[in-house]
Amino acid sequence: MSLTLIADNLVKVQQNIAEAARKSGRSADDVSLVGVCKYFDADITRLVAEAGLLDLGENRPQQLWDKAAMLEQLPIRWHQIGHLQRNKVRRTLPLIHLFHAADSLRLLKEINKEADRINTKQDVLLEVNVSGEEAKHGFAPQEMESVLEQCAKLTSVRVRGLMAMAGLNSGIDGAAADFASLRELQQRLLAFKPENVELGELSMGMSRDYDIAIEHGATIVRVGSSLFEGLSRR
Ligand SMILES: *Cc1c(COP(=O)(O)O)cnc(C)c1O
Repeated sequence: MSLTLIADNLVKVQQNIAEAARKSGRSADDVSLVGVCKYFDADITRLVAEAGLLDLGENRPQQLWDKAAMLEQLPIRWHQIGHLQRNKVRRTLPLIHLFHAADSLRLLKEINKEADRINTKQDVLLEVNVSGEEAKHGFAPQEMESVLEQCAKLTSVRVRGLMAMAGLNSGIDGAAADFASLRELQQRLLAFKPENVELGELSMGMSRDYDIAIEHGATIVRVGSSLFEGLSRR
């Protein structure tokens, strides 16, 4: 049955997280898991929540809106983990706990304006293109000092940390190098950051490499496929 399958997969992922954390002298509690349900519909997504994982992520805002409406009665914390267009900010903000993919100042300003309008503070992570791949979204590492200065002026946006995707073409060693770069960037920026900007969170690592990401300091991993092993995609 699908629920048992997902529950078993979840236990395995949580064990791997604990193991990777232990290896790097951290505790499993230092790492949070966001379940990425983008390959599946709301019914399957519901099972992930029923299995006990309430931090759920979607790549496409439209899919997040639809699922948030259909699963409204569950205490899910939604994470928008993929690119967000400015014209989708208004509908997305009230639904989400954390936005992982802030990748331009124009977008950040729009989020600030909207959060201000609805009288909230929005937690965000700044996406950094550490692999340098052209197809990737995100700020360039060398512009981050000036980005942080700008973020400090956005009083309804709360920067909590950084997010990155490992390069697709460079294999596991490349992923490790990308995660190490994000961590180094975080350390470099800590000395510089404005007071109202937090950089403690590092959202990095997906199914193929979350253990490596944790060894490089990830505090949030975004895991999709591994939670659904044994289920066929629709
Ligand atoms: C799909 C996706 C993931 C999860 O990928 P899996 O390989 O299925 O674990 C993580 N982060 C982002 C931004 C994604 O789009």
